[in-house]
Amino acid sequence: MATGEPVDLACTRCALCAGRTQVVPGKGPRPARLVLVGEAPGADEDRLGEPFVGRAGKILDQALAQAGVDRRAVFITNVVKCRPPGNRRPSAAEAAACRPFLDGEVAAARPGAIVALGKTAAEALTGRPVAVKAAGGPQLARVAGEGRLVWVALHPAAARYNRGAVGSIAEVLRRAATAAAEEGGGAAPPPG
Ligand code: URA
Repeated sequence: MATGEPVDLACTRCALCAGRTQVVPGKGPRPARLVLVGEAPGADEDRLGEPFVGRAGKILDQALAQAGVDRRAVFITNVVKCRPPGNRRPSAAEAAACRPFLDGEVAAARPGAIVALGKTAAEALTGRPVAVKAAGGPQLARVAGEGRLVWVALHPAAARYNRGAVGSIAEVLRRAATAAAEEGGGAAPPPG
């Protein structure tokens, strides 16, 4: 992953700028031991300016709690920083336009591990097709040309259709947090 750039809050690099209320950068400590990458801001994130603060965020919070991972110790972001119209999947061109910002966030966080939340993030991070499954435990890939681990979890929105999704995401988070601690990336969680 390249060095990247700081997120431009006035970005006009792709057409998503036309429909957004605001750019939604990642949130969390830098360095951070773990980075979580979702797909794109939804309506709540577009309104509030923070990732995963809507319905999917509540599910992510449940999974983090089950995993014993403190949200305040994790850097959370998305592949694209602006809400796609109708919450459609961002296009490859939109993801590519936003990529320097994701790279910049990851470079600043220096995590021991990254968790891709869903297919869009998994494919953006690994650069290859990924089938995201709940069963069978977390999948593991390494970012091309780098030693950083990418763990692949179901997207939290999948919990609407899959009752085991929260537990499955929690399991990936727990294993990724353990691996990140072993890799020694980022900061230790804050006390308390
Ligand atoms: N909210 C986000 O910030 N990202 C997603 O992928 C879904 C909801």
